[in-house]
Amino acid sequence: MYYPSVVKELAMNNGQPFHLAAWVKVGNSYIVGVNSDRCSSKFHRYHNDGTSGFHLHAEMDLLRQLDPDRGTKEINVVRFHKNGKATMAMPCKFCRKFLLDYGVIRVNYSDWNGNMKKVYLNQI
Ligand SMILES: [Zn+2]
Repeated sequence: MYYPSVVKELAMNNGQPFHLAAWVKVGNSYIVGVNSDRCSSKFHRYHNDGTSGFHLHAEMDLLRQLDPDRGTKEINVVRFHKNGKATMAMPCKFCRKFLLDYGVIRVNYSDWNGNMKKVYLNQI
C-alpha cells in the first residue's frame, strides 16, 4: 500500500503504544494527524462504561487541522505495528461520527493485511 514517508515517520514517533496516522493531501503537501495524549474538548465522547474521553485519535487530530470551509470528503488512515508493518486502521465509531460531522464521507484505511480498503461512512 502507498503512504507518504512523513506519515509513517510521524505515526512511528508518536510516543504511543498504537501508531496511527490520518492524512490528506492539500496542494503539494500533506496534513497529518496522529493519535496522542493530547486532548481537545471538540472531540469529547462518552464510552459505554460511563467514562468519557478527550484525547485525540489520528482522525480527530487531522480534523482539528483542516479548514472546515474546504469540505474535505476523503481521508486516509494507516496504523503500524512496532515493526513498521501496516495493519488494521478502520476508524472507530467515535471517529466515524466526527468525520461525518466534518463532511468526510470516504475513508481509505489499512486492513489487517496492510492493504488499503475504502469505506463509505454513510453506508455503515
Ligand atoms: Zn477513533
